[in-house]
Amino acid sequence: MQAPNYAFGHPPDVALPEHANSVWADTLLTAHNHAPLSGSETADVVVIGGGFTGLNAAAEALRLGLSCIVLDARRIGWGASGRNGGMAVLRYKLSWSEMAAQYGHAATKQLYGYIHEAVDSLEQNVESFGIDCEFSRYGHLTAAYHARAMQRLKADVRWLDEQVGDRAVTLVSKEETERLIGSGLYAGAYFDPRSAGLHPLKYCQGMKEALSARGVRFFEGTLVDNVITETDGVVVITANGEVRAKHALICTSAYTDGLPIASDIERRMLPITVAVVATTPLSSELRAKILPQNHLVTDTKNLLNYYRLVDGGRLLFGGRGEPAYKDHPKNHQRLREEMIHVFPDLADVDIGYRWTGVVGITRDNFPHIGAIGKRVFYAVGFGGRGVALTHLLGKYLARRITGDSTSLGAMSEGAFKPIPFKGLRLPLLKAGTAYYKLKDKLEAL
Ligand SMILES: Cc1cc2nc3c(=O)[nH]c(=O)nc-3n(C[C@H](O)[C@H](O)[C@H](O)COP(=O)(O)OP(=O)(O)OC[C@H]3O[C@@H](n4cnc5c(N)ncnc54)[C@H](O)[C@@H]3O)c2cc1C
Repeated sequence: MQAPNYAFGHPPDVALPEHANSVWADTLLTAHNHAPLSGSETADVVVIGGGFTGLNAAAEALRLGLSCIVLDARRIGWGASGRNGGMAVLRYKLSWSEMAAQYGHAATKQLYGYIHEAVDSLEQNVESFGIDCEFSRYGHLTAAYHARAMQRLKADVRWLDEQVGDRAVTLVSKEETERLIGSGLYAGAYFDPRSAGLHPLKYCQGMKEALSARGVRFFEGTLVDNVITETDGVVVITANGEVRAKHALICTSAYTDGLPIASDIERRMLPITVAVVATTPLSSELRAKILPQNHLVTDTKNLLNYYRLVDGGRLLFGGRGEPAYKDHPKNHQRLREEMIHVFPDLADVDIGYRWTGVVGITRDNFPHIGAIGKRVFYAVGFGGRGVALTHLLGKYLARRITGDSTSLGAMSEGAFKPIPFKGLRLPLLKAGTAYYKLKDKLEAL
């Protein structure tokens, strides 16, 4: 059977573009691709999906002394992991004080520990495997879009101080925020100096090379059609072969709809389009003004924007795409307008790169880890916050094989609820986008 020319069950008219237009693909120095699977292979564990989650699961399987095969329908890092903003932020979608109100202080303290463990794991991979991927703890600003958002950030800083004794995070005044970002749009900011940035595609490539050198077997261009469970293991079926293993780990994220065995998980995620632009290199005058200390930034809007400098001085600017999956020019036109709203000085600067990707969002904005029977485990639903958390859940996913059933609290299987009315995805997304757009406008008045 031939791999379909569309992305894993999405309708044929919504094919995702290859990496051709991303700044990451253009600045990837070497790319060694592995051949597709042909024939029969065996291993202790087979990982389906070679993004950050799958790579971390494979790395942990290796540490546990298990033999491991990774299969990816396209290439390692082809999905969201090779297209993202490369920002490993030490926050969740919900603020600390919102989470404390909703889940209680104990659960929120646990989540605080987990996000730090995630970014530490990322750093350990970079160091222990010697990956050249521009990783650095650049520091991250959460920029308050209006005064009320600043009050929420103040509550967060207070929660960190009182509940976990974390005084590394600071509040930044309006004036200082303007100096650090180069935009007078914000009421102030929350600054965490420990949040990190990296070149995500170089990292995927580096992980693949390091793991391959240590015995993990990779097969790219290998679409998994299904997983059959047997009493003593699994059989993973692909177009030209199969893998027999004791366990399968599903790391297919927003593309899970192609896997019949995971149809129940798929009902609990909504794939949404995310778009990014990167400018042409900024002049030295603009470089001196915009993000002079190379910080990473996310704003507090419901339909948020994030941005950073990449490739020696281009501004990468990302945000929500159009509700349909289509790689529509509107995705990037709107982003450019949003970028100019933040940085009016960029009105005459050209866009050098435009690309899109898909993320799987969940009802509670947390990713989830769980099991399908005794032999198949999954970690999915990272939304737009996966750079850090894939490093946590990927690791714990592989540990499931050894009987470790750490639930990860709010990220557990029990908390992973179906998306209501998922069949109405498009109208719901359109209505939601219009609602949040209006809410963002009204809140800023
Ligand atoms: C444009 C964009 C910007 C983003 N920016 C940020 C950011 O700055 N910070 C942040 O924290 N997060 C960001 N994210 C989110 C983050 O990238 C994701 O949450 C994360 O990469 C998910 O990783 P993953 O490994 O779970 O999935 P993916 O990286 O999507 O990997 C899934 C893989 O599974 C493979 N696959 C799917 N189905 C099959 C099958 N049947 N058989 C074989 N292989 C299969 C796919 O080919 C793919 O390679 C962004 C996402 C996008 C798209």
